[in-house]
Amino acid sequence: MEIILGKTAGFCFGVKTAVEEAKKQIKENEEICCLGEIVHNKNVIKDLESIGIKFIKNVEEAKGTVIIRAHGATKDTYKKIEQMDLKIKDLTCPKVLKIHKIAEEYSKDGFFIILIGIKEHPEAVATISFCGENSYILQEKDEIEQAVEIIKKSKISNILIVAQTTYNSKKFDDIAQILKNKLVDKNVVIQKTICNATEIRQKETIEISKQVDMMIIIGDKKSSNTSKLYDISKEYCKKGIWVENADELDLEQLDGINKVGIMAGASTPKEDIEKIIIKVKSKG
Ligand code: SF4
Repeated sequence: MEIILGKTAGFCFGVKTAVEEAKKQIKENEEICCLGEIVHNKNVIKDLESIGIKFIKNVEEAKGTVIIRAHGATKDTYKKIEQMDLKIKDLTCPKVLKIHKIAEEYSKDGFFIILIGIKEHPEAVATISFCGENSYILQEKDEIEQAVEIIKKSKISNILIVAQTTYNSKKFDDIAQILKNKLVDKNVVIQKTICNATEIRQKETIEISKQVDMMIIIGDKKSSNTSKLYDISKEYCKKGIWVENADELDLEQLDGINKVGIMAGASTPKEDIEKIIIKVKSKG
């Protein structure tokens, strides 16, 4: 069995930094909690819980030092942490912080902001809170008409289009262009804020998918960027599976496969990837 492993598979810079910094915090602080899962990966969460980091869903439950994960947090959350007089360790990825800054600046200048992203995703929820009230999260093409209507009703003539960092690059280009064409009477500024780590990983997934009989995508089922990799792999390869870890990989799925590609999302630790490789190799 020939295996092609993606060079970009696994933790991205933002996730790696957040996990490493969170581990350092436990040595320095007595009580430490993280608002939401630091990454969408059960093993990473278990590991951090075992060294004393508590994961909380609401800021009201926070005590001691509060970690803000790589996805970032809403403006309200920062305010509440301040009011509760808690310490904060902000591990928001610098690339996400940059989008918050862009959004705030354009919003102050009176722009209507369209964030192309996944509505429920914590990063999009955090980013939209920095976009002011004239803003909209646009997730799919079929919402374009509705977004255009809202923009027209607002009578705002300057529009900024930004992206969630892990959004599908090609889909963003398509949606942004359609929006621009429909808003010819407006000043439309497009800032493609998709993280280059995401873009490179998506491109590599396409390249590998074209060369193999089957793609194995590794990552938590809640991981947005992993979900995109899975969609891409299915587009370019006749067989694609998405597993969270080696236990989920059924070797019978590899029957008749000669060449397999492996790619993993930004929240997948290298241990999970290594275990999958060992299991695939055991097939012979
Ligand atoms: S995918 Fe990019 S933006 Fe998101 S955490 Fe990783 S490096 Fe940061």
